[in-house]
Amino acid sequence: RAKREGRGRVRFFESEMDQELRDRRLLQHDLRQALEQNQFLVYFQPQARVDGEVIGFEALLRWNHPTRGFVLPDQFIPLAEENGLIVQIGEWVLREACREAASWPRPLQVAVNLSPIQFQAGDLERSIHQILLETGLTPTRLEVEITEGVLIGDFTRALNLLRRLKALGIRIAMDDFGTGYSSLSYLQSFPFDKIKIDRSFISNLEATPQSAEIVRAVLSLAHALHIPVIAEGVETEAQRAFLAREACEEMQGYLVGRPALIERYLDLVGVTVERRLYA
Ligand code: C2E
Ligand code: MG
Ligand code: MG
Ligand code: MG
Repeated sequence: RAKREGRGRVRFFESEMDQELRDRRLLQHDLRQALEQNQFLVYFQPQARVDGEVIGFEALLRWNHPTRGFVLPDQFIPLAEENGLIVQIGEWVLREACREAASWPRPLQVAVNLSPIQFQAGDLERSIHQILLETGLTPTRLEVEITEGVLIGDFTRALNLLRRLKALGIRIAMDDFGTGYSSLSYLQSFPFDKIKIDRSFISNLEATPQSAEIVRAVLSLAHALHIPVIAEGVETEAQRAFLAREACEEMQGYLVGRPALIERYLDLVGVTVERRLYA
């Protein structure tokens, strides 16, 4: 009897896996049409100094799927990386983010996430250069965020590309710092302009004493290397106060503001509602 139950359970898992696989294929199929059917949106989340002064925004991709509603990046970016669509999608995000930022009266910075695939396929340098020319955005206002995945694989190629982007005036941030296997070793290979401490360390600040020590250690390391630090996922005043005490430069998280259409943040970028309506 136990055996029969066991088999049943196996079959249940199998069908669940089939279901998941089918679902991924469906999503991947839908992704191919998402760009031309205008289903993508760019959300913007403010980045601020720890005293609260907003200094820029991170562009975060959203997919408004015709039947599923909003699909989060973690659910579809891996699929777009699998089939290579991330190259076109990533270019679209860059163009939207740069065009939006170029229209702001205040010269705030805009940060855009880049996928490792964008470093391997296509001509990233050329397309970024082209987008900057096209939108008129000053290169020093653009920051690209990369994870260590970019430096795994063809390390030399990725490094050369980063150097050329930096030569254009673009700033390079290391995202999700502390979650990878070799974040530390990458700090010696490339002069990053910013380190983003991963959200997981910030959300555990109060609950886990180890997290506070890790954040302190990252700050002390970054500061010894003269690299400014932004903390991700700051949700509470207690977290902000801790970061301010520890001389963390910047923060990003729900405490400052959630990712949203730029319309929610027009006052911050220096656009008055009258100007948007009647200009
Ligand atoms: P990320 O670059 O580390 O972005 C930060 C994530 O943390 C975002 O999730 C943001 O919504 C979330 N977040 C920000 N503040 C808080 C907070 O206070 N509390 C909590 N709980 N969460 C917070 P999101 O937008 O779902 O994006 C997830 C990941 O998807 C991003 O992580 C990034 O790696 C990737 N991604 C997003 N947009 C793009 C894109 O245009 N291109 C590429 N290649 N990847 C993207
Ligand atoms: Mg990011
Ligand atoms: Mg991150
Ligand atoms: Mg992340």
